[in-house]
Amino acid sequence: ATPTSIMVGIGRAAQMGVLFRKGDALQRLQDTRVVALDKTGTLTEGRPTLTMLRCADGFDRAGLLPLLAAAEAQSEHPIARAITAAAGADIPQATEVEAIPGYGLRATVAGQLVLIGAARLMTREGVSCAPFEAEAESLAARGATTLYAVVDGRLAGLVAVTDPVKEGSRAAVKAMAAQGLKVAMLTGDGAATAQAIADDLGIEIVEANCLPGDKVSALEALQKQHGALAFVGDGINDAPALAAADVGIAIGTGTDVAIETADIVLVSGDLRGAVNAIKISRATLRNIR
Ligand code: ADP
Ligand code: MG
Repeated sequence: ATPTSIMVGIGRAAQMGVLFRKGDALQRLQDTRVVALDKTGTLTEGRPTLTMLRCADGFDRAGLLPLLAAAEAQSEHPIARAITAAAGADIPQATEVEAIPGYGLRATVAGQLVLIGAARLMTREGVSCAPFEAEAESLAARGATTLYAVVDGRLAGLVAVTDPVKEGSRAAVKAMAAQGLKVAMLTGDGAATAQAIADDLGIEIVEANCLPGDKVSALEALQKQHGALAFVGDGINDAPALAAADVGIAIGTGTDVAIETADIVLVSGDLRGAVNAIKISRATLRNIR
C-alpha cells in the first residue's frame, strides 16, 4: 500500500462524509467479514416517541405520566426524552434518582417509589408484569420498545416508545449483504423488539438484551465465528465495543465518547457511509496489489 493511494482513498471517503481518524483503518477495513450494528441511534433515529401508555386499575395517564417524567428528567437516555416530551411542562421534582444501566431507573417522586424500565428490571425487583405481558409482546412484535412502570411496588403501567428506522438503514444493510458481509445487530433492547426490526431490515444475526459489557462478548463471539469485524455505534455504552472491534465506526451525531473511541466517523450518521468506506478500502488496496 503506497501512502499516496491511501491518502487518495481517505480523501475520497472524506468527500462522502466518512472521516478516517486513524490512517491504518483503511487497510484494516478491507479484511472485514462481519459488520455488527448497534440498534438505537445507529440503525434507528435514536429519537423515540411515546406511542402508548396503558394504565393499570387505580392509575391514570394524568397521574402516572408526570411521575415517570420526573424519574426520567435527569436521564440522557433516548427513552427518557420520549417520556419527558410526552409529559409536557408540569413535571414534579424527583429525589434519589438511581439509573440502573441496561435496566432502567428508580426514583422517589412525591413520596412514592417509582420504577421504570425493561421487564428484567421488574424481575430483579420481584414485581410481576403478567397483566401486561400479552400486550407488551404484541407491541414488541411490531418493533416498539416496551417498559413497565411500578409505583410503590404496584404495577402501574405499560409504556411503548417507537424509534423510527433511519432513512438509509435498509439500503445500507442490503448493500452490506451484497458486499458479502454478515450483518448483525447488537442491542440492549428486548429480543422481540430487536427481532422485529432485524426482520424488517433483513438483518441475519440478532443479539438482544445486551447489558453494557455484553456487546463486547457478543462481538468477540462473532469475530471467532466469522473473522474480522467492524462495529458501528453511537452511545456511551458502545465505546467498549468500538474499541474491541477490528474497526470501530462511530455515528457522527452520537456521543463524544463513541466518536473519540472510533477509527472512522460517519459524519451525518447515515450507515451507507460504512458501505462506501468498505468499498473504497477494497478498491484502494486492490489497485495497489
Ligand atoms: P440500548 O441503547 O441498546 O437500548 P441500553 O443499555 O441503554 O441499550 O438500554 C437497555 C434497556 O434498558 C432499554 O431498552 C430499556 O428497556 C432499559 N432502559 C435503559 N435506560 C432506561 C431509562 N432511562 N428509562 C427506561 N428504561 C431504560
Ligand atoms: Mg445506540
